[in-house]
Amino acid sequence: MSTLRFHAVKETLTRKPLKIEENERRSAIFGSNVFNQATMRQYLTKEAYKSVMDAMQNGSKIDRGVADHISTGMKEWAISKGVTHYTHWFQPLTGATAEKHDAFFETIGDGLAIEKFGGGQLVQQEPDASSFPNGGIRNTFEARGYTAWDPTSPAFIYETTLCIPTVFVSYTGEALDYKTPLLRALQAVDGAAVAVAKYFDKNVKKVNASLGWEQEYFLVDSALVASRPDITLTGRTLLGHSPAKGQQLDDHYFGTIPNRAMSFMRDLETECMLLGIPVKTRHNEVAPNQFELAPIYDEANLAVDHNSLLMDVMDKIAGRHNFKVLFHEKPFAGVNGSGKHNNWSLSTDTGVNLLGPGKTPMSNLQFLTFFVNTIKAVHQYEELIRASIASASNDHRLGANEAPPAIISVFIGEQLTKVLNELEGVTKGKLSPEEKTDLKLNVVGKIPEILLDNTDRNRTSPFAFTGNKFEFRAVGSTANCANPMTVLNSIMAKQLIDFKAEVDALIDKKDMKKDDAIFNVLREYIKTSKNILFEGNGYGDEWQKEAKKRGLSNNKTAPEALKARVSKKTISLFEELGVMNKTEIEARYEIEVEEYALRIQIEGRVLGDIARNHVIPTAVRYQNILIENVRGLKDIYGKDFKKYAKEQLELIQDISGHIEAINSGVTKMTNERKKANTIEDSEKKAVAYCNKVKPFFDDIRYGCDKLELLIDDELWPLTKYREMLFTK
Ligand code: ADP
Ligand code: MG
Repeated sequence: MSTLRFHAVKETLTRKPLKIEENERRSAIFGSNVFNQATMRQYLTKEAYKSVMDAMQNGSKIDRGVADHISTGMKEWAISKGVTHYTHWFQPLTGATAEKHDAFFETIGDGLAIEKFGGGQLVQQEPDASSFPNGGIRNTFEARGYTAWDPTSPAFIYETTLCIPTVFVSYTGEALDYKTPLLRALQAVDGAAVAVAKYFDKNVKKVNASLGWEQEYFLVDSALVASRPDITLTGRTLLGHSPAKGQQLDDHYFGTIPNRAMSFMRDLETECMLLGIPVKTRHNEVAPNQFELAPIYDEANLAVDHNSLLMDVMDKIAGRHNFKVLFHEKPFAGVNGSGKHNNWSLSTDTGVNLLGPGKTPMSNLQFLTFFVNTIKAVHQYEELIRASIASASNDHRLGANEAPPAIISVFIGEQLTKVLNELEGVTKGKLSPEEKTDLKLNVVGKIPEILLDNTDRNRTSPFAFTGNKFEFRAVGSTANCANPMTVLNSIMAKQLIDFKAEVDALIDKKDMKKDDAIFNVLREYIKTSKNILFEGNGYGDEWQKEAKKRGLSNNKTAPEALKARVSKKTISLFEELGVMNKTEIEARYEIEVEEYALRIQIEGRVLGDIARNHVIPTAVRYQNILIENVRGLKDIYGKDFKKYAKEQLELIQDISGHIEAINSGVTKMTNERKKANTIEDSEKKAVAYCNKVKPFFDDIRYGCDKLELLIDDELWPLTKYREMLFTK
């Protein structure tokens, strides 16, 4: 039994929860704290409104004079809602969001004051940002960073502050955040996809990447969390014996949502409605006290912002309900971890989902084109995809309890496999009219029907086609989605550019018809990217062997996986597309490997502390009780005492054995840590932390968890798994 020495200090929203009247619809409050189109119409001049819309839709620049009108409109709207401050809201490479609030309030002399917010303040700011990670991009003498307004993501009110989504770049223009490369990747995929979509419809002018994330999380009573130094400092439990009951009965998944969790969810959903986050789905997940929340999908940049904002809101709302939200990918050993599936597709301004089958053979050829190109892109860049989701915390999840393995593969289902097999057999060069008719009628033409009853949904695949979108499932629950989205949209852009060039070459040089050329290129793609397709059990050992034979990478740890971030192939990809230059790429890598080492370092310290300051002293105390007991038995029974003290004597010995093992584990780990700390090179340091320091975690944990089972529950100082996982 844990003694609760702590009362959790709760971080929560400053204002009271908004009560939605019983008969009020959610749609009525949706987006009411967002400077959206309806609000803009109300607060902006016609010219200013047009200018923002143009910037949103076509990326055009906003004139400085117009910016003044926009900022004034924003300010009036914000003040009407009780707002006093504004902030540029951005996503530095810490993964969290950053804000620095300034008041509208300004003095104008003679003891007078007004509320002011000019266009200049809206468009650009220079936060003192020298403490954000920059991977060496900014020298200390040039520590300036700039935030610049991103009009494609609308401003919103959070608490009493007007938040303006911005990019964050260095004085010399290098990206220091997640949003900048994402915006560039989205622009690249837009251009490349429009060019290909024009083969099928000349009217297409814009292609948007869409993202629908599914956020998994644990809810644990905040007082219980506060009693666990490991969760408080690292976000996960570093020790703790599995409870007698875990998730084996599957009684939590999709079960009735417990009352307290439900009241948290309702409160959260109301807040999301105000912020324009279109949350739709909520349910229990597989592990006890694990849940999921998913919105209706949106344009990728906005969806990324929404997810970042949501994680912050969840944290605060949880405080109101005496919960702590755990976003960590693996907060508890032995039960499922948390992911953040990224559902992704591309759609045109003419309203067509390019990854959704259509109604005519031609629109289905378009679908197949984008479908096969995605497979080819993933095959080509599987290592980079793996790298885009690599982190110290996701390492625990990939390949563990019901999570995708570290091998990237694509699942497409039996029916589409058949279609690809047929396409692989098409004639080289020009197709005969009969063959084309056959393809149109029997292969391409049948796609919508077969997808309707395509019900096989392989849950073990890291990247699965699910009817009208791909679902990237290996993304971790703590991740900023911008990272995987930048990679996915970039590789797709590159692939589509290559595809267009190949098709055009066949049309120009071989005098082929457009659809002949498309069939020819797709056939080759299917042949050369087959190795990435896998329909079997991704959790099985056979797949590990098979994947190796196929030459697919299997980078199990983050330091191994991250190397692909700076490979020649990656650098030329991002440079060609203008998504990131070499400096930006290398800086990010530096930050990521550094963060990896720091996280393992912190975990090592915390584990050492808990083992030595909590576990061992408790074990000694219990052992003393046993020793006292044995002495007493000796007093009573004299030389016969061993008959009565057999168990106690064994326990005393067992405890000593575990104490010895834990102590030597901590000592060895600490020595390895000291050695690792002397390594200058960040990459080598991360590798040392991964291969030399981290392996001791298991040894130390093993001894501690054994002691948890042996020692009197009254004495055990740490809240146990069963208490954290089953307290509702
Ligand atoms: P699950 O994967 O849990 O079975 P669904 O397949 O119904 O759930 O949808 C998961 C997510 O996919 C939802 O957030 C939904 O908004 C999103 N989604 C649906 N269509 C698309 C699309 N075309 N592009 C991106 N995301 C989409
Ligand atoms: Mg899903």
